[in-house]
Amino acid sequence: MRPYPRPITSKLPNVGTTIFTIMSKLAADHNAINLSQGFPDFDCTPELRALFCKYINSGLNQYPPSAGIMGLREAIAEKMQSLYGATYDPEHEVTVTPGATYAIFTAVSAFVRPGDEVILFEPAYDSYGPAVEVNGGKPVYVQMQYPDYSIDWEAVRNAITPRTRMMILNTPNNPTASVFSAEDLRVLEGLLRDTGIIVASDEVYEHLVFDGHQHQSVARFPGLAERSFVVSSFGKTYAVTGWKMGYAIAPKNLMLEFRKVHQFNAFVSNSPVQYAFADYMKNKDAYLSLAAFYQKKRDFFLDGLKGSRFKPLPSRGTFFQNLDYSAISDEADTDLAIRLTKEHGIASIPVSVFYRKPPVHKVLRFCFAKSEETLARGAAILSKI
Ligand code: PMP
Ligand code: GLN
Repeated sequence: MRPYPRPITSKLPNVGTTIFTIMSKLAADHNAINLSQGFPDFDCTPELRALFCKYINSGLNQYPPSAGIMGLREAIAEKMQSLYGATYDPEHEVTVTPGATYAIFTAVSAFVRPGDEVILFEPAYDSYGPAVEVNGGKPVYVQMQYPDYSIDWEAVRNAITPRTRMMILNTPNNPTASVFSAEDLRVLEGLLRDTGIIVASDEVYEHLVFDGHQHQSVARFPGLAERSFVVSSFGKTYAVTGWKMGYAIAPKNLMLEFRKVHQFNAFVSNSPVQYAFADYMKNKDAYLSLAAFYQKKRDFFLDGLKGSRFKPLPSRGTFFQNLDYSAISDEADTDLAIRLTKEHGIASIPVSVFYRKPPVHKVLRFCFAKSEETLARGAAILSKI
């Protein structure tokens, strides 16, 4: 094909290929253990697979309602009530989406106008900045403070201007594996009280909070819930990242605008998958048991790293363990991640890619949503470096 014969002015001039595509491909090319992109290397349960097949075979294969099938919306609203004490009306306040990334993008598209500012926390999950920019908004970054990645709420207060339209939160946080405390959210609730700022709260790792702590959803805080989209992902919760299914929850007047955008983009989400999840969500243990399941994997991986020169940073949630490699090398993390993949057969994610300017600290992110066999092999390699 001949190239398009006019100059192209990119809407995203600084965006290249996402690190997840790059590292997973590099891992495959070099037959390396892939602890880079966040996805389980084990399958979902046979029950969930059987439910999906059941609903395909029962002919539920045409467009479902745009906001999602009612049974699933009700199950989501019930979960929000029982876990966070928050009441949402499934008719108007819950929308099923093709993934959490899509839900965040849709919330941004529905509200951000050219020139609007959106506060993001750096390091920031890589889809947030481009979602803001492609809609004409301006990301305004507040730094999370290394090494515990805490938030300086005074800095957040200073970042708020009359142009601030939105703020994107992510707890448990990717890539830092930190979590917000109730106090963090109380302070934020106070900061936003007299503003019109809308919050998109990415809570895809809501069930993966460790060491006995509780997930602090914005839905628990009335002053935040009234201005927030809460976003989550079935992919993370049920080990089916390839099914691309998530949801957004928000007060009716916010959700009305969200649905205007959604109906002209994806319009609906996969029908049989929704029926499968509506049934599967009745088993609360399937999500309530996840924290213990993944904490065991984290601890197994850390045990394998005892004596290694990699220094673990706290992993309080998500399925990521960050390792400081300053005792091993002065290399940039991007270089080291590539070298470890090619020369040692283990792939990770360099955390600097989630910053605009690479920070001085030296950290690689490893995904422990893997079988113990994979984790043992990975830890053994890392321990020899
Ligand atoms: N948000 C965060 C913080 C994530 O880590 C991920 C994926 N791992 C997503 C969103 C994407 O979720 P989904 O696949 O449902 O779009
Ligand atoms: N969120 C996953 C991660 O952090 C990857 C999702 C993606 O590849 N976009 O690894």
